[in-house]
Amino acid sequence: MSHRLLEGKKGIVLGVANKRSIAWAIAKAAHEAGAALAFTFQGEKLKEKVEDLLKGLPAPCPLYPCDVTSDEDLALVAESLRKDLGTIDFLVHSVAFADRADLEGSFLNTSRKGYHLAQDVSSYSLTALARMAAPLMPSGGSIITLTYLGSERAVKNYNVMGVAKAALESSVRYLAVDLGPRQIRVNALSAGPINTLAARGISGFTEILDVVAQRSPLQRNVEVEEVAHAAIFLLSPLSSGITGEVLYVDAGYHIVGI
Ligand code: NAP
Repeated sequence: MSHRLLEGKKGIVLGVANKRSIAWAIAKAAHEAGAALAFTFQGEKLKEKVEDLLKGLPAPCPLYPCDVTSDEDLALVAESLRKDLGTIDFLVHSVAFADRADLEGSFLNTSRKGYHLAQDVSSYSLTALARMAAPLMPSGGSIITLTYLGSERAVKNYNVMGVAKAALESSVRYLAVDLGPRQIRVNALSAGPINTLAARGISGFTEILDVVAQRSPLQRNVEVEEVAHAAIFLLSPLSSGITGEVLYVDAGYHIVGI
């Protein structure tokens, strides 16, 4: 990307697990667009992997541990951000999780525990993070999250994650209303299927890729860079009039009937 749309902006990116992560594509694009970045990782075993990736960025970036289900972790991230960056202009929430057993077969069989887990990690975390980040955005800001069409259509095997994404998209609208007076915008990107670690946890994922390639208006799947470019648009002043929105980056698949 040649435009320095995020020049002088500072932000935090949650959800880099490896080089295929959507969060990593967004981070690279944000860096190219001129942003200073901080990152989080979950669990010691991922720390080294994320550290290695960050070595590929020209400027050193703060890296904090953060399990989004832990209020203590979120408070520590806020404290560290204040110390290291002072204020921030954006937050990228690219985090989701459900038990593998809940991502195959019948949704009817979803356990109470599995339902709570998917909601806690994949949906509630956005609200908790927005509450943490808002005081760090005194001049306004932009918060984005990643969602999927399974929130509004019944997609085979997506099951409990579809319900969590529906709650996530609804949260985007309520948060946009609450944070709008502070000029903090909240939006979601609904990405088409992309071959990542999280996606491979969904039973029959390659079938989803095949169907989109056949039936989407663009007759292909999206590249992760295309999702990242849309993210930069939502994080930048170019989208200053947009909040509470779900923007599809899916080669147009969601508009197709038969
Ligand atoms: P990914 O690389 O596996 O990223 C998912 C991230 O969520 C990982 O970094 C994972 O860390 C993190 N995470 C899970 N539980 C967490 C917790 N308790 N605390 C903090 N972080 C946690 O896969 P991705 O496809 O890029 O997913 C990013 C987002 O895009 C997700 O919201 C996903 O639903 C969404 N999305 C993906 C697609 C797709 O086709 N790939 C399409 C539409 C939307 P660990 O590895 O340590 O668990």
